[in-house]
Amino acid sequence: MNDCLFCKIVRGQIPSKKVYDDEHTYAFEDIDPKAPTHVLIIPKRHIPGLKEADTSDAEIIGRCHITAAQIAQERKLEEGYRTVLNVGPAAGQSVFHMHVHLLGGRKLNWPPG
Ligand code: 5GP
Ligand code: ZN
Repeated sequence: MNDCLFCKIVRGQIPSKKVYDDEHTYAFEDIDPKAPTHVLIIPKRHIPGLKEADTSDAEIIGRCHITAAQIAQERKLEEGYRTVLNVGPAAGQSVFHMHVHLLGGRKLNWPPG
């Protein structure tokens, strides 16, 4: 999508600190990290959010999570980390290109706020 922030990041029109890149997914450091590791994993294809996804998106949603787990393993976060999808404005979604947050490197409280 032309005016989507994360599509622009995928196209390299907005700079980002790349963590991982393959045919389907792109991962980069969050600009405003909420934990020592805060990486965003996104599908290269534009999907607005989880509630707009359908079963044809199941594979890419899975790929984003597997990529998150691989990054967590590389960063030795396996004592505990969190993957988060904020869905809709009331849950804190502010960018409407689906993204998985990978958070780790500190104690993560439950339930989240
Ligand atoms: P949401 O609030 O939609 O779940 O998450 C959006 C995330 O994108 C936020 O954690 C925010 O810090 C991050 N973000 C917003 N704009 C940019 C940007 O231009 N570059 C990067 N790297 N992260 C961004
Ligand atoms: Zn997009």
